[in-house]
Amino acid sequence: MHANLQDGFADSPDALKDGQRQRTIIRVLGIEVGGDEFVTMAGPCSVETESRLMATAHHVRRCGARILRGGAFKPRSSPYSFQGHGLQALRTLARARAEFGLAIVTEVMSESDVPLVAEYADMLQIGSRSMENLLLLKAAAQSGRPILLKRGMMATVAELLYAAQLILEEGNPNVILCERGIRTCETSMRNTFDAAAIALLKQISHLPVIADPSHAAGHHDLVPALARIAAAAGADGLLVEVHPEPEQAWSDGEQSLDFAEFEAMMISLDPLLALRSTVPGAPVDAGFVEVGG
Ligand code: PEP
Ligand code: MN
Repeated sequence: MHANLQDGFADSPDALKDGQRQRTIIRVLGIEVGGDEFVTMAGPCSVETESRLMATAHHVRRCGARILRGGAFKPRSSPYSFQGHGLQALRTLARARAEFGLAIVTEVMSESDVPLVAEYADMLQIGSRSMENLLLLKAAAQSGRPILLKRGMMATVAELLYAAQLILEEGNPNVILCERGIRTCETSMRNTFDAAAIALLKQISHLPVIADPSHAAGHHDLVPALARIAAAAGADGLLVEVHPEPEQAWSDGEQSLDFAEFEAMMISLDPLLALRSTVPGAPVDAGFVEVGG
């Protein structure tokens, strides 16, 4: 007999599919993630000026994004890089939500910032560098907000699910898993996009799985192809960096799509998403049955 794909993940029981639970649909300001709709979350790496954020929110919404991303507290690889505008950026995000009806996702880096970020954001992002910060995970879980949990850049799929298990055990059922690329021997891209992890997670876990092609690729020219790969692998949505003038961006400009690139990427996803909507749960999960949510 073949081994079960879920073998090896026994320490994350609440994150795994079982007879009762095949998929969890997470509501973020009324938007369903993990349901039939493919949900695109887009925006700048970090919130810069108000006018840039508003222009970006307007554009991504017009192209079909449902959730606005933007960093207020930025974990940077270099200590000398821009660290984010903090509270001021949270306020700017809230104004964009009011004006454009997009939900807001933004990263929380420290336990002590959780109450403040949870007051403004509709979903809390746990960044790659924080995936194993257990005290932060617990505090974020206790806020009651949905959690966008990014895979650590050196983390295995099992370790990602441990982190999810911790949030679930804390009594917060709303966890979205995010593949954002991992470090491997390959150095020609910022990270190695692990599309197989998306396919695996969609088979073993009931939690929604999204992809961040931007931090995986590290270069805007590669982002749309990775986004299409994610859609074909069965992802429930995307987290994509978009900026009105990527060359001027204060962080991650090389991997940010400009407005025209984002629009073209969204259009290029349509054939894959049409396939997804004709077969429930397609392409990876044809024939699944929704039991509970
Ligand atoms: C980000 O989303 O801007 C970010 C810092 O991502 P990651 O934690 O995946 O590096
Ligand atoms: Mn970034």
